Amino acid sequence: MTIDINVISEKDRNSVLHPFTQLKDFATGKIGDPTIVETGKGIRIRDAHGNELIDGFAGLYCVNVGYGRTEVSEAIARQAHRLAYYHSYAAHTTDELAILSDRLVKMAPGKMSKVFYGLSGSDANETNAKLVWYYNNLRGKPTKKTIISRERGYHGCSVISGSMTGMSFYHDHMDLPLPQIVHTGVPHHYWGANPGETEAEFSARRAAELDQLIETLGPDNVGAFIAEPVLGTGGITPPPEGYWAAIQAVLNKHDVLLIADEVITGFGRTGSMFGSQRYGMEPDLVTIAKGLTSAYFPLSASIVGEKIYRVMEEGADRVGAFSHGYTYSGHPIGAAAANAVLDIVETEDLPGNAHQVGAYFQAQLKDRFAQFPIVGEVRGVGLMGAIEFVGDREGKKRFDPSLKVGPRVSKAARDRGLIARAMPHGDILGFAPPLVTTKAEIDDIISIAESAVRSVMDELVGEVQT
Ligand code: PMP
Repeated sequence: MTIDINVISEKDRNSVLHPFTQLKDFATGKIGDPTIVETGKGIRIRDAHGNELIDGFAGLYCVNVGYGRTEVSEAIARQAHRLAYYHSYAAHTTDELAILSDRLVKMAPGKMSKVFYGLSGSDANETNAKLVWYYNNLRGKPTKKTIISRERGYHGCSVISGSMTGMSFYHDHMDLPLPQIVHTGVPHHYWGANPGETEAEFSARRAAELDQLIETLGPDNVGAFIAEPVLGTGGITPPPEGYWAAIQAVLNKHDVLLIADEVITGFGRTGSMFGSQRYGMEPDLVTIAKGLTSAYFPLSASIVGEKIYRVMEEGADRVGAFSHGYTYSGHPIGAAAANAVLDIVETEDLPGNAHQVGAYFQAQLKDRFAQFPIVGEVRGVGLMGAIEFVGDREGKKRFDPSLKVGPRVSKAARDRGLIARAMPHGDILGFAPPLVTTKAEIDDIISIAESAVRSVMDELVGEVQT
């Protein structure tokens, strides 16, 4: 299809309310025209001008099997022709849905029982909060309702999930967070540790803070703790040594449920099928989305642990039907897409690829960037990584935010054909390429990123001298 770029740009500017876009700068053209993305193949996308870009972020950490996989698009088409829709209320199902659910229960971390489907990571976390409340109501602990999340955690932007998200710009001017959600400290050793404090000591301190917070709130008032195995949007930060063992002990002590938000880490990104498995977590609820269908169709799920489900089933005679569900819960096209994606994840061993190619990627990031005078920390696990830029390495001081170092490096990379994302909370360049990325493609990503970082470093020297 040939399109008229000017016509599409004008229609877009006049009518699309874009997420995470400065509205006035977009409306007045200050940040240019929208990027019209037309096609994708492998780890690359192409815009309407014919520019090819390496997608070093897999869309939004989601197109894990890469673009243009006909196995998935054909599975979607087959299901659409056969049966485009039926609901899953009142014990209706489809073959694809039943098969997918059986697979997920078997592969998920922890002792899992059932799968409830939504359409986004945000709504799955909304469901998880309601399940925590439902579970505690049914088992006669009606005060055990507060959910603890972490500063810089990201769990979505609907009302409850947006409250769980520990970033103030998701709350400001939108009357969040809800009072049932409170936040505890982020486990980022580089910024958070005291001088000389080891990773294990820092982890123990974060766990002791959580313990104290639960004591202060009252263990009878705390229902759950939600966290990403590896902090994602808050800066792509793997947990410090010993963190999850220490946290898990506090949760067990106070009978507080663990919700593992595996929206990014699920299906291989860390080099294990789930981040929870990699870090020895024992979740009661698991949130999945993104990699479940590699974003070929909107689908998310809450995987419900045996402990919670038992109470729900036992309470059913008292409370009646489980009154929660969406028109599109368990959509058959989503289920068909997920089954086709999971076939690829398994047959091509994408967790294994993320482990192997990921080890090469992490080594390249460290070798090529860690010694730059403007780099404070290089970090990551599997196929997710970040470079954090600082104005003063020795004194561990950030750049003046007005220099916009992170966004400038991201733009310099883009001008050279690579999408790598500038992340909030400092000057951070983030990477999360598709899980099918090869070593040769990692070399391309790294060399473009290096050229981008050098160019901004040169500019900064000029700016400081003048
Ligand atoms: N949880 C995590 C860990 C995420 O990274 C995201 C999205 N980036 C979400 C939840 C929310 O997912 P969605 O955007 O599909 O609502």
